[in-house]
Amino acid sequence: MAKTKVITLLGAPGAGKGTQAKMLAAKFGYPHVSTGDVLRDAVRRGTALGEKARKVMEAGELVSDDLVSEIVRERVMAPDAPRVFILDGYPRNVAQACYLQSLEDQADVFVINLRLEEDQAVKRLAGRRYCSGCGKIYNVFFSPSIKEGICDDCGSELQQRKDDAEEVIKERLRVYRQQTAPVVDFYTGRPNFFEIDGNREPDEIAGEMSGLVTDLENRWTAAR
Ligand code: AMP
Repeated sequence: MAKTKVITLLGAPGAGKGTQAKMLAAKFGYPHVSTGDVLRDAVRRGTALGEKARKVMEAGELVSDDLVSEIVRERVMAPDAPRVFILDGYPRNVAQACYLQSLEDQADVFVINLRLEEDQAVKRLAGRRYCSGCGKIYNVFFSPSIKEGICDDCGSELQQRKDDAEEVIKERLRVYRQQTAPVVDFYTGRPNFFEIDGNREPDEIAGEMSGLVTDLENRWTAAR
């Protein structure tokens, strides 16, 4: 049986990984696994995982590798693992990148780095709001809702993620610089590593991203 293909998106907080991952998932019909979403959901539901993760996440630090890698391992090792899935938010440090590599008997990994300057990242994070009803993402600077604080699509209230508070943003960017930027170095120069300029409109990025994934799909079909 063909190995699962994992397309993972890297990028500083605010680079648009989540938005682009959702777009790819919808366009190509791939499942989308966001380690951040899985953790936030666990926190909301008050599970054991959520209890362990909550404080660390609110401080903008990284949750322990064991907990997060287990989320990924479960998806890759599942007997009904999908042909392709989109991973967003993992790997966040070199140890996680090595762990992902250790799954190479089960999964081929394709890495797309969304490049974004830090000052842009701050603006995107500080302005980000999400709909408490349908999850739609807005930005008060770049893509505000028509009525302030209310979702255009479902009318629910817009909220700010706790970790998008200014002090926490600073810490998340520090953690990114220290721990996640080396992951980009880890992959740079490898055959399945691609980079996209994240400092553009989401639609433009989505166009380039789709082109890249279409090329990958063609490659996979030809190799079958
Ligand atoms: P995100 O939604 O990807 O920005 O993730 C939100 C938070 O979840 C991060 O700030 C971390 O606390 C935690 N998190 C998500 N993915 C990982 C990961 N791969 N390793 C460690 N912590 C993570």
